[in-house]
Amino acid sequence: MSADPRGDELAQNLAGVQDHIDRACAEAGRGRDELTLIVVTKFFPVDDVRRLHDLGVRDIGESRDQEAAAKVADLDPAVRADLRVHFIGQLQSNKAPHVSAYADVVHSVDRAKIVGALDRGAMAQERTLQALVQVDLSGDDAGRGGAVPEQVAELADLIASSQALQLRGVMAVAPLDGDAGEAFARLSEIAAGVRANHPDATWISAGMSGDLESAVAAGATHLRVGSAILGSRPPRR
Ligand SMILES: *Cc1c(COP(=O)(O)O)cnc(C)c1O
Repeated sequence: MSADPRGDELAQNLAGVQDHIDRACAEAGRGRDELTLIVVTKFFPVDDVRRLHDLGVRDIGESRDQEAAAKVADLDPAVRADLRVHFIGQLQSNKAPHVSAYADVVHSVDRAKIVGALDRGAMAQERTLQALVQVDLSGDDAGRGGAVPEQVAELADLIASSQALQLRGVMAVAPLDGDAGEAFARLSEIAAGVRANHPDATWISAGMSGDLESAVAAGATHLRVGSAILGSRPPRR
């Protein structure tokens, strides 16, 4: 019997997802080193973050400000320093300055007000934040966040001209209905448009537990995987 069954479970799930990514890369003719796996730990306790760190995970994703702040604060400073914390949830401009106190990367920048709020927050903390423009690929403003494709270039320029934010690229969630592959192909075109003006903005954050192959095939650089590693999330309270 293992002393930590949960640790064993996470190790096994993580290995399964790594295999899955390896296969997707092989099929797409891409190098595994082109992909970064972000393990989404939202709704799961800080102990799981520690276990994942022990297993070699260096990128974690969180989507709710209060939960994320508390979890990051609970980490041993040496573990915290060894992790990149990605904020991937919808942002309100009044919460954004708080997020800039602990996040390293914010994937969900989708309007000018958020750029200003994150920039001011990061400056006040004397931190630099990496930022991605979240793109709404649904075409129906279903409220999952994201800027419509027509607004992406302007938001990217705004981030690039801010003081404390560094533009890294674009992020999207595949629409619930419709083909993830098509959606990610559109994201990839939008990303190319951003790169034409901002050559360092090379990240494409796309792909979750259920659609990571499509994302790898479409050129994603960052995958955000939660339930395939941590298990199904407890219902939202
Ligand atoms: C929760 C979440 C994920 C992870 O989703 P899984 O299906 O659990 O892998 C990825 N991206 C965003 C924006 C999320 O909110």
